[in-house]
Amino acid sequence: MSLLVVGSVAYDGIETPFGKTDKILGGSATYISLASSYFTEDINLVGVVGKDFADEDIELLKSKNVDLEGLQFDERGNTFFWKGRYHHDLNMRDTLDTQLNVFEHFDPIIPDGYKNADFVALGNIEPSLQQKVLEQVTDPRLVVMDTMNFWIEGTPDALKQTLKGVDLLVINDSEARELADEPNLITAAEKVRAMGPDSLIIKKGEHGALLFTGDEIFSAPAYPVIDIFDPTGAGDTFMGGLLGWLAYTNDLTPHNMRRAVIMGSVMASFCVEKFGPERLKDLKEQEIYNRYKEFRRLSVIPEIE
Ligand code: AMP
Repeated sequence: MSLLVVGSVAYDGIETPFGKTDKILGGSATYISLASSYFTEDINLVGVVGKDFADEDIELLKSKNVDLEGLQFDERGNTFFWKGRYHHDLNMRDTLDTQLNVFEHFDPIIPDGYKNADFVALGNIEPSLQQKVLEQVTDPRLVVMDTMNFWIEGTPDALKQTLKGVDLLVINDSEARELADEPNLITAAEKVRAMGPDSLIIKKGEHGALLFTGDEIFSAPAYPVIDIFDPTGAGDTFMGGLLGWLAYTNDLTPHNMRRAVIMGSVMASFCVEKFGPERLKDLKEQEIYNRYKEFRRLSVIPEIE
């Protein structure tokens, strides 16, 4: 099944308690594409990069079968740049710098060959741009979207409009509470689903995730990652693993959605082990499968005899 990925392609400068990098590949569309590339070969990326974008980063995406016809090259400026510093508590980070550069004028034009994508991933960008994507695609099987507090607070009307066309929303717990204006997560989930998305995933950082689909709630465990090094991109990687699995299986039953949530968690658990997308460059199928099995073992609840 084909997957259309729209989002940021970026360079990031990252500081964590364990080290520091400047200008490494990042962006939501990059992480989603790399993570999903382990499950499907039909990935079509729409984004924009500037004149500083390196050939080796193009080659990396190409080597993962990511089609780049929809990647715009804007010679007028540099690629979007984001700089962040993580606290000792890695759930906390400060944005030190955001340079929109060519991203400021990004217009997500979907090439004709991408318009009939089966699965659509809307990375965390301005809701009106996400809406523009939805207006160009023809009847996808599943539209999955990410967003953040910045848009919930800054452009709530556009966000709510876009949500009407979304099948599955993936957000974190604080975003769910803010969007629904409701402290209780279960009630918040009901309110968010009433805004449009049939299904909802609430990520709880290092504490796992909740899936709401049909009339089921699934609580996914968090993998106890020992080598956590850099959380950048974990959320996007989760979305990539999840969508990659759904595109590979083409099965949207609640049962398979549970597997997809775990596959997203598996990929995110790898992502955080090294700086940026480094760990997503050459994973082995067996490593992915083994970690999936470890996840299953984490939450086996014995029967009461
Ligand atoms: P995550 O850690 O999952 O929130 O994703 C981090 C990625 O989001 C980084 O690689 C950044 O380049 C990208 N990013 C940060 N701020 C923005 C923004 N305002 N718009 C689009 N992408 C962003």
